[in-house]
Amino acid sequence: MYGVFPGGFLPFISTYTLFVLVWSSEHMKVIQHSVETLQTALVSNRQDLAKLYSKYAKEERRLLEEGFHPGHPGSLFQPITLHSDSDWINAHPEEPQDFQSFYRDPYRKTPNASQNTIYIQTIGSFGEAGPQTDQYMEWLREYCQAFFYGLSVKFLPAVTVAKTGCSFRVNSNSHNLQILTGDLLRFLGNKKPKDAFCIVGITMIDLYPKDSWNFVFGQASLSMGMGVFSFARYDDNFYSRSYAGRLKKSFKTKQGDYSVFDGYYTPPITSTLLLRSCKTMTHEIGHMFGIKHCQWLNCVMQGSNHLEESDRRPLDFCPICLRKLQVAIGFKIAERYKALLHWMEEDQSQTSEQEEASACQSVLHFPKPTEAFHTSRLWLRRCLDILGKKDEL
Ligand SMILES: [Zn+2]
Ligand SMILES: [Zn+2]
Repeated sequence: MYGVFPGGFLPFISTYTLFVLVWSSEHMKVIQHSVETLQTALVSNRQDLAKLYSKYAKEERRLLEEGFHPGHPGSLFQPITLHSDSDWINAHPEEPQDFQSFYRDPYRKTPNASQNTIYIQTIGSFGEAGPQTDQYMEWLREYCQAFFYGLSVKFLPAVTVAKTGCSFRVNSNSHNLQILTGDLLRFLGNKKPKDAFCIVGITMIDLYPKDSWNFVFGQASLSMGMGVFSFARYDDNFYSRSYAGRLKKSFKTKQGDYSVFDGYYTPPITSTLLLRSCKTMTHEIGHMFGIKHCQWLNCVMQGSNHLEESDRRPLDFCPICLRKLQVAIGFKIAERYKALLHWMEEDQSQTSEQEEASACQSVLHFPKPTEAFHTSRLWLRRCLDILGKKDEL
């Protein structure tokens, strides 16, 4: 079990590891693991796993071992910082999962030749503008396919909220519409194709897991390989009083009458929304592989309790979580990074060609809003540099 010492900065102890919380400013704490701890978490003390690790190419090991010195000048990886008591690690103590405990987890699911597709089911409207929405969904799909490099990612035909037959309510504090996660998971369970590694439902409508809860970002059943999550709270305005999804206080819903969802507000598609959606989707799908919340380094698999904390997470894995995914799928690390970089850069190089094509076919083309991915783009280039692949780009 964990214990946080009341004064804050002394040892934070678990049965597995010991790390030190250091106040780096008045409100922020940095989780600093020793090099030995990080080494064991990545490589493992078990001989077979250490041998497996030695099969990585020299450059791959160099990249993974960048994680042993987080926060050093020029380092690719950073330590986890805690900014408040409501941050995930403070609010939800969990046992840290190193590579070895991931590898030995008898319940984790691995894709195989007959179950190697990630299915995405959209639920409800994703925006007013049809073509732009379709484009946005396609960006998400392509991003996930690069992230889980080697698996294919497919959309199931979109469904309305009514089609799922789910319960719904108006939140009594924020006055927005919410749908019940358990009903959606049941619906997804019936829709899961035979070749699915997992199925994830995504929606722009806010979610709740049970009456007594205010809301939930998402919910998953790992044993069933399915999950559902919402992007509603990734709207920049969600927490403001002027949020366009707020209904009048006197508004009454009637169970079974889904007409309230017709034309209901959905967030505008911006670069930030795209970034947040890519991050949430890959985090949630990462859980489907049995990857638990990361407590080692700054990582997309860190738990998040609120929007500010999700925004702080990087877009990609730390070396320990990367090894977990690599072993589950079997990709070459450089190939995956190249695919992600290509996704971030492809629109810029293709815009002129596509504009010409669009003019001929009178099809609207929306440039991919990748401004918010700028830091990630630079980061990927540095990773590929270490992997010796920069010249091939
Ligand atoms: Zn999570
Ligand atoms: Zn991690």
